[in-house]
Amino acid sequence: MDTCIFCKIARKEIPSAIVYEDAHAFAFLDISPVSEGHVIVIPKEHAEKIHQLSEQASNGLISAIKKVSKAAESAFKTGFNLLNNNGKEAGQAVFHVHFHIIPRRGLKDEFKYEWPSKKLEHQEQIVAELKKALAQT
Ligand code: 5GP
Ligand code: ZN
Repeated sequence: MDTCIFCKIARKEIPSAIVYEDAHAFAFLDISPVSEGHVIVIPKEHAEKIHQLSEQASNGLISAIKKVSKAAESAFKTGFNLLNNNGKEAGQAVFHVHFHIIPRRGLKDEFKYEWPSKKLEHQEQIVAELKKALAQT
């Protein structure tokens, strides 16, 4: 896509600190890392959200994510969060599918990752809504 910043990075029209590249995927350092070693992995195919990718592109993307995350774990000798924002409501700022690999230095490091657990409620209604939507796909 002509105006997409991540498509431009994948085509090397915009420079980036390239970590990995293959036929389907591209990985580079985030320009504003939330932790040292923060990598972004993208498909070369343009799509805004994960479910809009072709099977070939999503399979290639997951392979690259596994490869780069294994390398990050080995290089930095620590665990990592894998984060994928879909839609502006979820904090997506660049509308080309991407996964963040965020190396962690303990649960109280600089990445303020919170998991505000609540009591499960309305489960029958939620499951019904999801099953109805799944039946339409
Ligand atoms: P999102 O909020 O969409 O999941 O994250 C987008 C990420 O892309 C941000 O972490 C931001 O720092 C990164 N980013 C945005 N523009 C560029 C760029 O031009 N180069 C690189 N390397 N990263 C970028
Ligand atoms: Zn794009």
